[in-house]
Amino acid sequence: MLYKTETLSVASNNQQGLETNAIARISSFRQVYCASLAYERQGAQMDIRQQKGLQIAATKKLTQSGNRWFVPSQSGQRGESYVVVPDVSSPQCNCPDHELRQVKCKHIFAVEFVIQREFTFNEETQTETMTEIVTVKQTYKQEWTAYNQAQTQEKDQFQTLLRELCKGVGEPSQTIGRPRLPFEDMIFAVAFKVYSTVSQRRFMSDLRDAHTKGYISKVPHFNSISNYLENEVLTPYLTMLIEESSLPLQAVESSFAVDSSGFSTCRFVQWVEAKYTNPTLMTKREWVKVHLMCGVKTNIVTAVEITDRFAGDCPQFKGLVETTGQNFTMAEVSADKPYLSSDNLQTVVDHNAMPYIPFKSNSVSSSRRGTPSTALWKQMFHFYSFNQARFMQCYHKRSNVETTFHMIKSKFGDALRSKTRTAQINEALCKVLCHNLCCLIQSMFELEIKPEFWAEAA
Ligand SMILES: [Zn+2]
Repeated sequence: MLYKTETLSVASNNQQGLETNAIARISSFRQVYCASLAYERQGAQMDIRQQKGLQIAATKKLTQSGNRWFVPSQSGQRGESYVVVPDVSSPQCNCPDHELRQVKCKHIFAVEFVIQREFTFNEETQTETMTEIVTVKQTYKQEWTAYNQAQTQEKDQFQTLLRELCKGVGEPSQTIGRPRLPFEDMIFAVAFKVYSTVSQRRFMSDLRDAHTKGYISKVPHFNSISNYLENEVLTPYLTMLIEESSLPLQAVESSFAVDSSGFSTCRFVQWVEAKYTNPTLMTKREWVKVHLMCGVKTNIVTAVEITDRFAGDCPQFKGLVETTGQNFTMAEVSADKPYLSSDNLQTVVDHNAMPYIPFKSNSVSSSRRGTPSTALWKQMFHFYSFNQARFMQCYHKRSNVETTFHMIKSKFGDALRSKTRTAQINEALCKVLCHNLCCLIQSMFELEIKPEFWAEAA
């Protein structure tokens, strides 16, 4: 037996849970290889322990000390953990499941998911090398200097960027009623109003300030702001501005995630509560459902669709991917289970990107009524079954889209003030636009990006 040890590390960049892979190469025996092959053969059907193991690996923090791993107990009290020795030929765990039945328990599976083993055979030296890739969840210190700068200058920067964006909208051909504010001023006013989060009357001093600085040509009456939001001509323009505001990050983003969330018309009702614990709230209140795709590094929103509260998630996926695909080179797209369909997988692949959408527990590898995407479905199913660890790493970027919604709601509120449907849609779009501008400001300080809009028009 030959022993060879090398260590190298690779850092992959992901804003929230920056992950470091520590790769330790150690030599191994042939039996190890056989065990792994056997495991791959079983892999086509994940049993319940494997599934639970994957869940633990994805959600709990496993710690290592020598060859022993400490796996937090799922059911037990806080801080309670089991000790796993992931020996390849006879893995051990001190939980009742393993000790009684002598089977591979969920804790052993969890450790195995964390340690991804790869085998390579060297012809020259006739030795086999086992590579262990250990995924370590790491938290990074916030870039405080850049963060402070971005936050302290945000309101000024926000107005400058919003002004630049609005300049490009032009004037819609249709003019309704009496002469009104120029269209660009109108969009500036409503977006800045949503950014300020205060009532219309209290917003007036902000707006006068913006007028003094030359961002708008005249100050409208405070009642006019809500009238502007009622204008349905605004909706496609706001959507366009959201897309345009994502373009300065074209070079930064290549992984994207999709999700949806609702905004209610009542301040005291939250989407998550209504959806999961109190369904009557869904029917009692007005909701606007926002479907969006965002870049996972900066949380910038690259595409958005608005539907009513009961609209399914799956049909929105294609449009979001296609819009993003027009502006960005996509490498990965991750989404939650409800988005899984042959068509959606195909849409992502058509854009030369890799879909990371988990298969449901009842998904099968066999064909489904001979749909054209059957081969792809099968391929993805096997990829998912055999490369759990790799899959989970990429799929986990999906959590960034939840962060995006959290950012939007915590900063600009999860309630809508508007009373009519059109105004509610416009208000929700304004929140997304404001979020994008804030992401840009953050990127200006952290990534030293200088945003410019309407490049082609200039
Ligand atoms: Zn166990």
